[in-house]
Amino acid sequence: MSDYSWVTLATNDTYSLGALVLARSLRRVSTNHNLTVMVTPGVSAAMRAQLASVFNVLEEVNILDSKDEKNLALLTRPELGITFTKLHCWRLTQFSKCVFLDADVMVLKNCDELFDREELSAAPDVGWPDCFNSGVFVYRPSIETYNALINFALSQGSFDGGDQGLLNQFFSDWATKDISRHLPFIYNMCSSATYSYLPAFKQFGQNVKIVHFIGTAKPWLQYLDSESRHVKPSPGSEHLQGFLQLWWDIFCNDVHSTLS
Ligand code: UDP
Ligand code: MN
Repeated sequence: MSDYSWVTLATNDTYSLGALVLARSLRRVSTNHNLTVMVTPGVSAAMRAQLASVFNVLEEVNILDSKDEKNLALLTRPELGITFTKLHCWRLTQFSKCVFLDADVMVLKNCDELFDREELSAAPDVGWPDCFNSGVFVYRPSIETYNALINFALSQGSFDGGDQGLLNQFFSDWATKDISRHLPFIYNMCSSATYSYLPAFKQFGQNVKIVHFIGTAKPWLQYLDSESRHVKPSPGSEHLQGFLQLWWDIFCNDVHSTLS
């Protein structure tokens, strides 16, 4: 078995639904690597059983929270302090290399080549491209790095109150040091980009390998017609119809039937 793993995080049953679709999407493209999900006490026993049926490893972790209400208010995302919990991924030292994926991510094509990259590889953020987006990143588990990150969090905090600000401050030479650590955008196609640059999406959209439903319009919050199984995107998310429909198709075909 591979000593590489995909890793995601869920702190409640709702994000667990995202994690289940993510895992199925990775199985659909026949990845050769392990699937690991980190869960906190907020995930129910029934949901853990579902997660354990598709992930190879289920790791219980405790909540780490930035409690940085001011900066989180600037992001209008008070819930994201909890994303410090992601830092636990560096403790998965049974693996030599991992790719972290947010639970609001869906894999469209096999991306096992990501494991050829080095720590810390990630794609630019659409809001501030000199920062990387922390929804998809390649890293090497290490207790030393984990401790350094926790010390850094305690002493410096995070400029946005979430994991992305912290990781960008910690891996601060990402923007300039080594272009091989810049993942192409097709590995973390943030859903808002299709809206802000539609011609590029028309030109390159068919190459996308990983789609990331950033922001508040999560796939599981969209309206699904239960008869036709067609998703009706909320206003402002119409351009995401195709990706949202695929997310719901995977949910209906591979996930829902196993939920009681
Ligand atoms: N997350 C979670 N519970 C929460 C908020 C976040 O488990 O209440 C995890 C989940 O893996 C999620 C990631 O942290 O995908 C980052 O949060 P989110 O994707 O909502 O942030 P965005 O990508 O919209 O900035
Ligand atoms: Mn996300």
